[in-house]
Amino acid sequence: MTRIAIYPGSFDPVTRGHEDIIRRSRHFADRVIVAVAVNPGKDPLFTLSERTEFLRVAVGDEAGVEIRAFDGLLAKFAEKVDATLVVRGLRAVSDFEYEFQMALMNRTLYEALETVFLVPDVGLTFLSSSLVKEVARFGGDVGMFVHPTVRAALAEKFAR
Ligand code: ADP
Repeated sequence: MTRIAIYPGSFDPVTRGHEDIIRRSRHFADRVIVAVAVNPGKDPLFTLSERTEFLRVAVGDEAGVEIRAFDGLLAKFAEKVDATLVVRGLRAVSDFEYEFQMALMNRTLYEALETVFLVPDVGLTFLSSSLVKEVARFGGDVGMFVHPTVRAALAEKFAR
C-alpha cells in the first residue's frame, strides 16, 4: 500500500521551516503532495505560480515529493489524490487551537483522513513566512531562512 500525505499551505513564500517538514514527512509517507492553496485567506505577496515555482526549486528534486495547486476543500482534494494523511507543522501553542479544529473538521468530511503534526528542527521553530516577509520588507537579510531563489525574489519585490 502506498501511503500518500498532503502538506497544505499558502507557502507565501516557502521557508526552510516548510522544507524541513516536507523532508520529515517522507519518513512515514511514500509520497508527499505539497498542496499550494490557490486562494489563501490572506492576501498573498506572491502569485500562485511564483509560490509553486519556489517550492519546485527548493524541494522539487526530492524523491517522493510532488507540488500541486489546490482550490476548495482540502478533504475533497485529499480524497481525489488518494491521500490518507494531512501533515501540518506545529511551532508554538498558538498554532494548536486552529489546527485541532481543522484536523477534526477534515476527518469529519473525509473519514479516512488523519492529521499528523510535526515539529521542525528546533532552530526553525520561530520561522514563519510572514516574519520572513517583514524582515525582507525592511531590508534585513533572510538568506538563512529561505532558498536563494526566494531570497532574490523577496529582494526584488521590496527593492523600491
Ligand atoms: P497556512 O497559511 O495554511 O498556515 P503556511 O504556508 O503558513 O500555511 O504553513 C503551512 C504549514 O506549515 C502550517 O502547518 C504551518 O504551521 C507549517 N509551518 C510554517 N512554518 C513552519 C516552521 N518554521 N516550522 C514548522 N512548521 C511550519
